[in-house]
Amino acid sequence: MARHYKVLLAIHPALKKVAEPVDTVDANIKELMQDMTRIMKEKKGVGLAATQIGVSKRVLTIDVRYVKKDKPNLFCMANPEILWASETQESEKEYCFSIPEIGVEVKRPTEVKVRYVDEHNQTQEIHATGLLARCFQHELDHLNGIVTLDYLSPLRRQLAIKKLQRLDRAQRLEEAAEKETASHHPL
Ligand SMILES: [Zn+2]
Repeated sequence: MARHYKVLLAIHPALKKVAEPVDTVDANIKELMQDMTRIMKEKKGVGLAATQIGVSKRVLTIDVRYVKKDKPNLFCMANPEILWASETQESEKEYCFSIPEIGVEVKRPTEVKVRYVDEHNQTQEIHATGLLARCFQHELDHLNGIVTLDYLSPLRRQLAIKKLQRLDRAQRLEEAAEKETASHHPL
């Protein structure tokens, strides 16, 4: 049965951790990749890093098909690394599962060459451009304990953190209320 994972907010300490490399893509890592793909699809996101669900492993999934319908490519990556990045950079607003509703402008290289191990434990290399390149760099940041808020000025960062803290409290209250209701229906 698929495990239940919660997508953590950027203020959670797990998102500050540098994730551990994967030895081999075995059945466990493959299952993690499948769970991450499912979460990403359910939430209609284009990318997810294992750190965002509290798993400190260098694993990420990307599928940009939700915005670019012509490119239905699912990438499951272990130990991803950038081999080359273009000098040309572009600034664009990025949204993140761990930072709901707060878009942050981030300047990044427009093209990157990436090496990774796929779901069949095979080493692959791709040349990513456009949204794929941006998404990959965003997820790789997560594996290194970096979130988009870290690109903000100190003041704007503080404001965003306060907003996330309020959201975190609201989510906890909601969860507590759900548990309370559930306990009223014994079987
Ligand atoms: Zn993110």
